[in-house]
Amino acid sequence: MAPLPKAEASTVRAIYGAYEAQNKPRDGRSISVSTLAEECERKLFYDFRWVSENETPQGRTLRIFESGNIEEDRWVENLRMIGCEVVDRDENGRQIMVEACDGHVRGYLDSEILGLPEAPKTIHVGEMKSHNLKSFTSLLKDGVRIAKPLHYGQLQTYMYRRGRSRGIYLAVCKDDDRLYAERMELDTEYVLRLLARADRIIKSNDPPSKLHEDPEAKMAFACQWCRHRPVCHHNAWSRANCRTCLFASPEGGGSWSCARFHKPLSIDEQQAGCPAHLFLPGLVPGEQIDSDEESETVTYKLANGEIWIDGANDKTVAA
Ligand code: SF4
Ligand code: SF4
Repeated sequence: MAPLPKAEASTVRAIYGAYEAQNKPRDGRSISVSTLAEECERKLFYDFRWVSENETPQGRTLRIFESGNIEEDRWVENLRMIGCEVVDRDENGRQIMVEACDGHVRGYLDSEILGLPEAPKTIHVGEMKSHNLKSFTSLLKDGVRIAKPLHYGQLQTYMYRRGRSRGIYLAVCKDDDRLYAERMELDTEYVLRLLARADRIIKSNDPPSKLHEDPEAKMAFACQWCRHRPVCHHNAWSRANCRTCLFASPEGGGSWSCARFHKPLSIDEQQAGCPAHLFLPGLVPGEQIDSDEESETVTYKLANGEIWIDGANDKTVAA
């Protein structure tokens, strides 16, 4: 008989529980710069439109995130130890924010660094990441662009939006504390392509194509871990909120408006939605067969053959 697994100690369980209790999963206001280079455009659309429930990471995972933040502080100290000037906060003491695509793309860079031994007079945007042994080994072998394309897109976008021509990717291996640094030049064309793609996703009312049609296929690794898989592949319903409503539109400065009630929408309002909500047709698991502007209804033949009328039971009141 295989040995029975050891029960987790009560102390450990309590600590993980405390992390989980403190964590408040929330919808992202914008597309994060850290996900801009995501391979699946549909995933970015679903994220931006608050289609799926937020994930509730386990305590151990939350502690891993915290370790990453602690490691960033250590990098800053290490860089100062060798005489670099490191700026990791803005004039108000907050993380340095960058925005793009009219405020619908947003991110916070780790640092700007002056005095690196390789190029002492050039300010570099610095991005700091922790890796497990497997990830670190592939980083050493292939470099950031190939081994960590999301991180590459993130650092390139920060460089572009900060007007810096150089960046440095700083990595640590969590298993043995080896350090790695890779300098890079700004690739403006690459960033412009990334931002044009994000802009298209932001302005679209329809989900882009799936990265994989068959989530069980050997190559469909991304789908196996994707939180949108139920909506994307298994006809699950999206959440009802303003971002999934056909009356909502992204506006300038990262804001949103409602064409039904002719008003801007705060984040709280967007999350709440209202009884006049009508799903974006591309999010309904079926085919649109009719619509009636006067009664504000849209009729669908669902994937299971049923006829469903969106808006039929609404009590449309002022939102
Ligand atoms: S399940 Fe796959 S195809 Fe669908 S959004 Fe996720 S990664 Fe993209
Ligand atoms: S307020 Fe109501 S009608 Fe307007 S976008 Fe939100 S859910 Fe749709």
